[in-house]
Amino acid sequence: MLDFHYEALPGRVVFGAGAARRELAAEVERLDAHRVLLVATETEEPLARELAAPLGERVVAVFTSVRPHVPLPVAEAARALALSVRADAVLSVGGGSTTGTAKAVALTTGLPILAVPTTYAGSEVTPVWGLTERSASGTSISTEDAHKTTGTDPVVLPRTVIYDAELTVSLPAELSAASGLNALAHCVEAFWAPRRNPISSLAAEDGIRALAAGLPAMHADPADLAAREQLLYGAYLAGSAFAVAGSGLHHKICHALGGAYDLPHAQTHAIVLPEVLAFNGPAAPDALARIARALDTGDPVAGLRALSHQLGIPRGLRELGMTEDQIDHAAALAAPAVPADNPRPADEAAIREIIHAAWAGAPLASASS
Ligand code: NAD
Repeated sequence: MLDFHYEALPGRVVFGAGAARRELAAEVERLDAHRVLLVATETEEPLARELAAPLGERVVAVFTSVRPHVPLPVAEAARALALSVRADAVLSVGGGSTTGTAKAVALTTGLPILAVPTTYAGSEVTPVWGLTERSASGTSISTEDAHKTTGTDPVVLPRTVIYDAELTVSLPAELSAASGLNALAHCVEAFWAPRRNPISSLAAEDGIRALAAGLPAMHADPADLAAREQLLYGAYLAGSAFAVAGSGLHHKICHALGGAYDLPHAQTHAIVLPEVLAFNGPAAPDALARIARALDTGDPVAGLRALSHQLGIPRGLRELGMTEDQIDHAAALAAPAVPADNPRPADEAAIREIIHAAWAGAPLASASS
């Protein structure tokens, strides 16, 4: 039986190698923007200025104080700059932190965003914003003393996204693998996340296919533009699937692990994902079959493990420094957040099993199959 709710998200996507250099000015014109605030990190500033050069005096200010997870003072400084120069659009060139800064500006000013992503974060196709506030005791923003607030507002969804794989070739292989694996987790999870529907599943399946092709090829040759194109396409689909379907069991477990033990984000995702699939798969046979098809394997759990192995990801959370006696606490943290409609009931005991499997790591035989 087909029975679903689906709210399609608006947004124009321009995809192609060289598209940013070729089409940026026309896309700004299309938005009828005449006073553009350019946002980029200090590292990407030269690239951003080069891309924006055809806009000439339409670029009225450049904001480069981008920081990870959009600290509130950074958001406030960017907003103040946008207002002081009377910007009528925000052009972001960079990864999720840069897009996030542009979103923070859009949230309070309503300005349209034109996003040119340079990583595989996928934020550019979601209406989700995030801001980090320092706790009263904190002297700096860190995972321990910072409090992240997230929300959803259609005003922060970029109006136009230009995907240009040429801009991602410079992203170091390790960061590319981390970013791509994160996107892969969004795709797999989209099959059972709370707002899943046939359209988000379509995006997710093809996203897995593109990412699973692009990741090993990029790992073998980071300058391989065809691999970069697959990764960027997969990132777009992953972001689209996540934007619509939301996050579920896998992300709740990873969030608990990351928050409590400061484990590295992408590696944690890569290690936990096959274990969540092993748990949910028997109760979600259609998802399992589609993930298998996308990975071109008869055993998608082993397929995910093999992909991580190929990218040099450690096999178990214990290799990341987590200790066995931390498993109970992590399970207790994750359990209350798990969506009620997960394909299988996932109580604290079940989550403990999943985390234990991820902690121990799969035996080498299945990791390399
Ligand atoms: P990032 O934007 O912090 O970038 C990571 C590093 O890569 C930075 O040092 C940056 O300067 C560098 N970099 C970016 N592009 C490069 C390139 N092409 N070449 C060389 N270096 C480059 O990291 P990210 O992984 O893109 O984004 C992570 C952030 O995005 C997190 O804060 C996450 O919460 C957020 N995010 C938000 C959403 C959403 O829907 N709101 C979705 C996904 C991620």
